[in-house]
Amino acid sequence: MPTPISHAAVGFALAAWAQQGAPTRRVCIVAAACAATPDIDAIGWPLHVANDSLFAHRALTHSLAFAVLGALAATTIFFRGPIWRHGRARIAGILTAAFLSHLCLDGLSSYSVGLEFLAPFSHQRYRFLWTPLGSLHAGLSGQLVQEGFVVLLPALVIAWLGMKRSRPPTLHLIVGLPGSGKTTLARRLEREHHALRLCPDEWIARLYGNAPAPPILDAARDPVEQLQWTVAERALQLGVSVILEFGFWSRSEREQFRARAAALGASSEVHALVVPEDELWARLSQRNATLPPATFAITREQLAAWWKVFEPPAPEELSRRSADIAAPGGGT
Ligand SMILES: [Zn+2]
Repeated sequence: MPTPISHAAVGFALAAWAQQGAPTRRVCIVAAACAATPDIDAIGWPLHVANDSLFAHRALTHSLAFAVLGALAATTIFFRGPIWRHGRARIAGILTAAFLSHLCLDGLSSYSVGLEFLAPFSHQRYRFLWTPLGSLHAGLSGQLVQEGFVVLLPALVIAWLGMKRSRPPTLHLIVGLPGSGKTTLARRLEREHHALRLCPDEWIARLYGNAPAPPILDAARDPVEQLQWTVAERALQLGVSVILEFGFWSRSEREQFRARAAALGASSEVHALVVPEDELWARLSQRNATLPPATFAITREQLAAWWKVFEPPAPEELSRRSADIAAPGGGT
């Protein structure tokens, strides 16, 4: 009898293999929870829910409608932020598959009642024609042993292999003007993907202090970015994903870095933070008043000049690019 633990292990294994790039723990854990969720109908037993109720065992919570709506709800709740924008549709698919894995395993079992796959539209209960799981004669312990060998153990091994499988690293380009939230987004990506985050302002502040004169700031940026790229290049060669907070204001610069990533066998993703100029200035004037570490004062004139040269990424730039996919339009 598949227990919630076995269902969760199957959901986790699915997510470990179905994600693009290195699997993230959050997707795996939410998929595990989704795969176990249909059995929340167990609370109906102490509440003496009637057998023909929608909330009876293997009724509404074991339906296709619940799987789809549950996956959409979980995607909306747990994968809201901009770091998930790229993969949200795929995540919704993975979570739907996690819910469906529960229905399939239960459908393959011979014990208990059939499943109301079509609830709330129909109360008809189904199970598959082949029901190898669960034996009427094995008793509870026999069923648990069978489940352990047939479902839980294989799922754990497959999940472990999925987490260990080596995948090409990803170069994440954070695009945005000062004040658009690049570092906040980059820190989230760093946690989710265990990637190396490189922020020029942090290095400049370490080298020249928090308030370098504007000429020093301008002169320092290029060499620091070049040095950070040298580190990034080595990390990508070693299979470690990298997050660059360079701002990447022009499309040609973004394409150049993506081509470099592809040449190293790495995938690339563009994360765009496009904030209206007035809102940017509101944030920057507030930041100018306190200047947190590794941030520098910016004038209204500077922002206006930068705004004019900033090229927000086109929609086609926002899709993840594998090393073997050429740039759209033959970009460099
Ligand atoms: Zn179930």
